[in-house]
Amino acid sequence: MTQMIINGKKVDSVSGRVLDVLSPVDGEKFSTIPRGDAKDIDLAVKAAREAVENQWKQFNAAERGRLLTKLSSKVLENLEELAQLEAKDTGKAITTARTDINVLARYFEFYAGAADKIHGEVIPFMNGYNVQVVREPLGVTAHIIPWNYPAQMLGRAVAPALAMGNACVVKPAEDACLSVIKVAEMALEVGFPPGVLNVVTGLGEEAGAALAKHHDINFVSFTGSNEVGVLVQQAAALNAVKCVLELGGKSAHVVFKDADFKLAVPTIVKGIVGNTGQTCTAGSRLLVQRDVYDEFMALLAEEFSKVRVGSPAMDLNCGPVVNKAQFNRVNKYVEQGKQEGLEIIAEGAIDENVPTKGYYVVPTLFKAHNHDSQLFQDEIFGPVLVAAPFDTEEEAIELANATDYGLMGAVWTENGGRQMRVAKAMKSGQVYINGFGAGGGVELPFGGVKRSGHGREKGFIALEELSTTKTIIHFHG
Ligand code: NAP
Ligand code: MG
Repeated sequence: MTQMIINGKKVDSVSGRVLDVLSPVDGEKFSTIPRGDAKDIDLAVKAAREAVENQWKQFNAAERGRLLTKLSSKVLENLEELAQLEAKDTGKAITTARTDINVLARYFEFYAGAADKIHGEVIPFMNGYNVQVVREPLGVTAHIIPWNYPAQMLGRAVAPALAMGNACVVKPAEDACLSVIKVAEMALEVGFPPGVLNVVTGLGEEAGAALAKHHDINFVSFTGSNEVGVLVQQAAALNAVKCVLELGGKSAHVVFKDADFKLAVPTIVKGIVGNTGQTCTAGSRLLVQRDVYDEFMALLAEEFSKVRVGSPAMDLNCGPVVNKAQFNRVNKYVEQGKQEGLEIIAEGAIDENVPTKGYYVVPTLFKAHNHDSQLFQDEIFGPVLVAAPFDTEEEAIELANATDYGLMGAVWTENGGRQMRVAKAMKSGQVYINGFGAGGGVELPFGGVKRSGHGREKGFIALEELSTTKTIIHFHG
C-alpha cells in the first residue's frame, strides 16, 4: 500500500478510499494508492499556502538552489530503485526508465543552478525616481501530470516552480504515480520544508478537477489530452488563474530526396517506437519526397521490422502500453488504417515470452498514397507510423502543417537554405534539422502552438512562466 504526501506527511485519503495499482507488464495488482478527492486537494493547497507564506519564504534563491542540488543527488543515488519502480508502473523498458530518472535528476540540477541567476531590472524613469522590477514567485502552483513519463514530468513541472520559490501541489495520473510519490518523500529527506511539495493521488475527474478549480491556487500546468486540457483551462479561468497546457502532437518528419538516409532511417524509427510511442513529441507522421518514396520506405521497413516488444526486464525497443484503454486505442487505429486500405509494409514483433495478460501491441508502419487518412490527424499514442509522399518543398510545408497540433517537427535535407526555410515555416514549438529527439533537453524551451497548447516549459523560460514581476516606483526627490 502506497500513501501520498501532504504537508510533509505520508497520508491516506480523508475518505479512506483507495485505487488498485496494476502493472501493464502482466496486468497484476501490485499496490494501492489513496483515492484523493476535493477534501485532500484542499488540505494540500492549504499546506502549500502556509509553506509559501511562511517557512519557504525564509529560503533565499541560493538556498533553494542548494536544496534542488541535494534532491538531484538523492535521485541519482537511488536511480536503480526509481527506474525499476517506473518500469513496473508504466511498462517502459528498463533502459528507458533509467534514462528518465537521469533526466529527472537533470531537471533538479539545471534549475538548482538557475535559481539564483534570475535578476530583476532597474528602469530609467523621470528624475527623482528609482524604478525596480523585481521577480516574485506566483505562490501555490498546481501541476497535473500524465502517466507516460511520470518522473520526467514531475521534474519538468516542479523543478522551475521550486527554484522560483513557489509551493507545489501535484496530481499525477492514477495509472502511474509511484515514482512521483517516492521523489516527494526524497524532497522531505533532503530538507524541503513540509507543504512545499505535495502529491495528491486519485482520479482525474475527482482530484484533478478539484485542483484545477481550487480558488487558492495561482497557476496550473497540465500535460495530457486535448479534451481534458480544455476543461482544466476552463476551470482555471473561473479563478483568473494562469494556465500552461501541453496537449500532445502529431509531429511530422519531412524527408527530401537529398537527405542522409543512413542517419534518418534509424532516427525516425526510434522517434516513433521509443517509450512505445507514448510520447507527446513522437514523430508519428512521415512525409517523403516522391522521387525517393519507395526507396526510402523500403529502407525504413527493413529497420522497422527489427523492432521488438517485451517486458521492461527484457529491455527491448518497446514495452507494453500503459493500460487497457491505450491497448484498445492503438489496436483500433491499426484496424482503421487497414480498413482504409493503407498498406502495412512492416511490423515489429512481440517476444513470445511476454506475460499473457500484459498490454503488448504490434508496432506498425503504414505506407499511404496521400495524406487524407484520419491516422494523419489523431494522436494515436502508440508505435504506429504513417507515411505519405510529397512533390515540392511548398507542398511538404503545407502537409507538415496540415494538423490541429503543433508541437514538434523535423526536416531532413543536406540543402542549407531548405533546412532553414522549412524549419521557419513549420508551425510548431520545436523543429529539428537532420535529427530528432522525442522530449529531450531540459535546457531547451518546449511547448506547442495551435491545439498542442500554450505556455513554455524547460529552459530559463519556465522560470518566467512560474514567476511574476513587481514594479517598485520609488520617489526619492
Ligand atoms: P488525460 O485524461 O488527459 O490525463 C492526463 C492527466 O489529467 C492525468 O493526471 C489525469 O488523471 C488528469 N485528468 C483526467 N481528467 C481530468 C479532469 N477532468 N480534470 C483534471 N485532471 C484530469 O489523458 P489519458 O486519458 O490518460 O490519455 C488519453 C490520451 O491523451 C492519450 O492517448 C494521448 O493521446 C493523450 N496524452 C497526451 C500526453 C502528453 O504527453 N501530451 C500524455 C498522456 C496522454 P487520471 O489519469 O488519474 O485520470
Ligand atoms: Mg484519464
